[in-house]
Amino acid sequence: MSKSLIVQKYGGTSVGTLERIEHVADRIVKARKTGVDIVVVVSAMAGETDKLLKMARSLSKNPARREVDMLLSSGERISAALLALALQSRGIPALSMTGRQIGLQTDSTHTRARITSIDAQRARKMLNKNHVIVVAGFQGINEEGDVTTLGRGGSDTSAVALAVALGAKQCEIYTDVDGVYTSDPRMVPQAKKLDVVSYDEMLEMASLGAKVLQIRCVEFAHKYKMPLVVKSSFKEKEGGKGTLICEEDPKMEQPVVSGIMCDKNQAKITLKEVPDQPGIAANIFEPLAAASISVDMIIQNVSEQGHTDLSFTLAREELDEAMVIMNKVGKKIQATQVSSNAKIAKLSIVGAGMRSHSGVAAQIFKTLSAHKVNILMISTSEIKVSCIIEQKNSKLAANALHDAFKLEGKTAKKKTAKIVSPAKK
Ligand code: ADP
Ligand code: ASP
Ligand code: MG
Repeated sequence: MSKSLIVQKYGGTSVGTLERIEHVADRIVKARKTGVDIVVVVSAMAGETDKLLKMARSLSKNPARREVDMLLSSGERISAALLALALQSRGIPALSMTGRQIGLQTDSTHTRARITSIDAQRARKMLNKNHVIVVAGFQGINEEGDVTTLGRGGSDTSAVALAVALGAKQCEIYTDVDGVYTSDPRMVPQAKKLDVVSYDEMLEMASLGAKVLQIRCVEFAHKYKMPLVVKSSFKEKEGGKGTLICEEDPKMEQPVVSGIMCDKNQAKITLKEVPDQPGIAANIFEPLAAASISVDMIIQNVSEQGHTDLSFTLAREELDEAMVIMNKVGKKIQATQVSSNAKIAKLSIVGAGMRSHSGVAAQIFKTLSAHKVNILMISTSEIKVSCIIEQKNSKLAANALHDAFKLEGKTAKKKTAKIVSPAKK
């Protein structure tokens, strides 16, 4: 019978220094002793991707996405090669591989490409020869053979996709917190670690700003029912128990509110005094869709004298590109002004139990008002309420709501979360 396989992913802080890489190598040596095959996926060393992006932006205001991918993919290659060397010096046969070498094929949407297939033949061959494979995460190649990247946090998705392609038993995501919390523990010190989270809830949490897992990684894990475990690489003893993300247990009662997420990576664009006519919204949003820019919330004010103001939100990294498009559109549709605000945050309250409970929105608005936090936009769905607020209020608002919904819970130990180097983030 062939050995079982585990895919382990180590994020930026976990491979942030040579010392940390040595520590990861020691962990892998230990894990191998339990008799499993191991494929490791690594991120770039902490800060490296941001540093490279800054270099690109200092040379070009709107750097070509193809070149950005070529540049950013180098960060993950460095950590993969260094970890393979550290393993080899421990007597472990190890081989580093790029996205191309691991056969990870994507579409051509540079900087946020989607995985289309993985041809893991070479990886399987090397596993059969008892090698540890160290894969540079976050990257693949498109049909032309150009390097692509999978969006920020994309190594999580590389790891799950490889776990699925290689038939792994589970995918372990090692990071700098010891699991998934009710809220970002750096922002809400009283946040509680969750032992088990369903794929559905994790999907909502990831899409609303819990960057501990990239949303596409959760989508993949859900689709292929791959158990995901989030653990700390800083804790001894296999990183603690961590958080298991798996299928929902229908017998378990759903909490009304299970978490408070905050996404500071948001921006808002407003078009003033747009003619209120059929076809105007299409004129605004079609060119954005053509540029693969996703729009989140949209608000159109009540029309006055045939004109209306229209605002929408989007990811901040797409703001510059969207503003170039919107300035053109604004002229075409004769808007009197096109403006943007990048100092906003989206605060979301998530909970599957909201389906059957009323009053959650009212409680949110009451709490925010008691803390004098102004709400700029609101959107709701079956299991979440999101508010756009000024970014400077996000910490205050997240903590106030965490308290108001008593998320610390009876079982939470009166201690603050275990996190690493909070000052760095
Ligand atoms: P890595 O470099 O290992 O991929 P990330 O920085 O991408 O790590 O993700 C881990 C970070 O996610 C944590 O340090 C924490 O601040 C943040 N985070 C945001 N929301 C949550 C949450 N609900 N639970 C745990 N961590 C969260
Ligand atoms: N290095 C990339 C980033 O910083 C990908 C990742 O870490 O997952 O977003
Ligand atoms: Mg990450």
